Amino acid sequence: MPIVLGRRYDTGEPCAISIENDRIADVSPVWPSGSLSDWPYVAPGLFDLQINGHSGIWYSNAGLTRDQVLLTLQAYFAYGVTRLYPTLITASHEAFAAGFAALRQACEQHRWASDMVPGFHLEGPYISAEDGPRGAHPLEHVRPADWDEFVKLQDIAGGRIKLVTLAPESENAIDFIKRAVATGITIAIGHTAATRDQIQAAVDAGATLSTHLGNGAHGTLRRHPNYIWEQLGEPRLYASIITDGHHIPATLMTSIVRTKTPYRTILTCDASGLAGCAPGVYELGSGRFELLPDGRIVVAGQQQLLAGSSLGTDTCVASVMRMAGVSLRDAIDMASRTPARLLNQPQFRLQRGSRADLFLFYLPPGATRLDVVATFARGELRYGELPTLTADQPQHTNSV
Ligand SMILES: [Zn+2]
Repeated sequence: MPIVLGRRYDTGEPCAISIENDRIADVSPVWPSGSLSDWPYVAPGLFDLQINGHSGIWYSNAGLTRDQVLLTLQAYFAYGVTRLYPTLITASHEAFAAGFAALRQACEQHRWASDMVPGFHLEGPYISAEDGPRGAHPLEHVRPADWDEFVKLQDIAGGRIKLVTLAPESENAIDFIKRAVATGITIAIGHTAATRDQIQAAVDAGATLSTHLGNGAHGTLRRHPNYIWEQLGEPRLYASIITDGHHIPATLMTSIVRTKTPYRTILTCDASGLAGCAPGVYELGSGRFELLPDGRIVVAGQQQLLAGSSLGTDTCVASVMRMAGVSLRDAIDMASRTPARLLNQPQFRLQRGSRADLFLFYLPPGATRLDVVATFARGELRYGELPTLTADQPQHTNSV
């Protein structure tokens, strides 16, 4: 029975967490025998609702295979992520079909993969065709909302598409939203240039999230009203934000977190398939992209149009603390409990009975990312190892 020693992320208190099978059996306060600064923090596993791939593998690639999916999933344990929504962005129907089929196979073949992937995210293709709102999505595959196409994709995905990002102004979008919400799918507004009325119609129809608010937008906007203010001020919408340190400035990060509160703000890294790759120019099906040394990914040849991030969710947790003054507790909750709540998935906690998805990390002052040392998913050590620590009252030693 593993016993995990660490400082609770929410209170800072040292504790011993006993794991039995896939559950937390007990959480008890303890006294560190040595220095408390040697103790890592312990927190519930992170949950990122928007991951596009890793290690040069994109989920949107028509050639995606089951084994590639498994490779990418395994890589995310190193970031403290124990749950994620693989995300397919605007592509041809054939590419979607191949991608969802490969993702489904990975989940059906391995229990750990289906535990890690409680849903898929379809971002596009029913989005704005305008430059700016469209972001790096390929124009040739943008199309009106098509429920019949979606039903086919959902069938291929085995019913696992649980989140769809679309633009409310897309033709047929409001009807699409109503049908999707009726089947339990979460609808996000994103890659949009919608008017206030169109946004209100989408929310009235059941949309509950703004996807990466502040990105996927025009470079220059009318001061007000505009679609960023309209979504920011709409209390029925959660907002996801990419807090990798590059996608939005500190003041916008602060404004969104304070307005939506950590209860309705979700951190995502929107990691691209180039996450985990070396800096350089990469030729991909949809164009040429450059991974810069600071982790930004841009459409090659310019430095303005961001095309996802190469950084992980752990970086987003550290950045929102450093740049927006958010506490560790709130930052972790925005990357674990809040997305789970929005998506109607279980909220894992550091308490008896919770599924034992948790990770250990150090966070030196000013750090740009969490220094993840170990990740457990469903009670199994999936990444790293437990540091050697001892504690009194009661006596515990880390062992697995
Ligand atoms: Zn996007």
